[in-house]
Amino acid sequence: MWTDQLKEAAAFIRERDDFLIVSHVQPDGDAISSTVVAGWLLEKLGKTYTMLNEGPVPSRLAFLRKSGEILTLADGSSGPPRPFKNVICVDCADYGRTGRTSDWFAADAELLNIDHHPTNDGFGRVNLMKFHAAATAEILFELIDEMGLELDTEAATAIYTGLLTDTGGFRYSNTSPLVMSMASRLLEAGANGPELAEHLLERMTAGQIRVLQRGLARLELSADERIAWLWVDSEDLEQTGASNEDLEGLVNYPRNIEGVEVGILFKKNGEQSVKVSMRSAGKVNVAAVAQLFGGGGHVRAAGCRLTDPLPEVVEKVVAAVRKALDEP
Ligand code: AMP
Ligand code: MN
Ligand code: MN
Repeated sequence: MWTDQLKEAAAFIRERDDFLIVSHVQPDGDAISSTVVAGWLLEKLGKTYTMLNEGPVPSRLAFLRKSGEILTLADGSSGPPRPFKNVICVDCADYGRTGRTSDWFAADAELLNIDHHPTNDGFGRVNLMKFHAAATAEILFELIDEMGLELDTEAATAIYTGLLTDTGGFRYSNTSPLVMSMASRLLEAGANGPELAEHLLERMTAGQIRVLQRGLARLELSADERIAWLWVDSEDLEQTGASNEDLEGLVNYPRNIEGVEVGILFKKNGEQSVKVSMRSAGKVNVAAVAQLFGGGGHVRAAGCRLTDPLPEVVEKVVAAVRKALDEP
């Protein structure tokens, strides 16, 4: 039962102290929001904690409370590893998504796994998983309620950010009645909805526009126009001044084309490493396609990484999507 899961997670937190909070490699809005909200919750309970991510906090999310305190392996701000016995993983679809932060898990570490990806295998000692949750931030909101804590503006802003980013601005199919009622409570608690939407979803950097121009120039459609894809590489980022976070949202362009069932973005990073992002209009379960290549995610949004040259990756992934489309 879900309420039992909430109680078990609450007990995991209450009975321990000195936590490590980690999220997934290349953290997104929900990952950073969930990280800082978990920190807020521990602080309210008088617990000590350290926040750590493999990748840096995207600059767009730097306004979130104490996001500046999240240690990053990428920039060395973390210093040498210190082993933690109590670990909270947020928004990580599987253990591998914690990346190199696992160097900080003690050999006898116990993990609380809080996540909403249907491909999550329950890698925690305690698992708080709700696959139809719109965002991990939604689950944390329920945990806050379960633990009887009162929201303040900072926590409300962070939870709202997780919901807003993982629902694409309260538009995707994961925008449930519960999400909307939560959004209402978060606005009441002081989250500034229009400002967050403007800052997180509307505003574009010049680099983002330039990399969009390049990406769209390479857009390809399958002969039946049901699959569309584009690619970008690290030279594009260097030459346009765009950052990795500027690529978020790019995959929506192929997906949004009328008649297209699956949109794909290939991000080439080095000769043999391609990050693949897939978005489905609903017919194809892209999480299942991503799993064929060791990745995962949600039915309509999923990702994976392949270690082959770009043309091969495009061929393999498009073929797998085509096969999934042709299945009854
Ligand atoms: P992205 O395309 O990176 O925005 O990811 C879409 C969704 O799939 C997000 O919920 C990610 O957390 C998830 N995802 C992306 N890459 C992976 C992966 N390699 N393994 C598991 N889940 C992933
Ligand atoms: Mn995420
Ligand atoms: Mn998420």
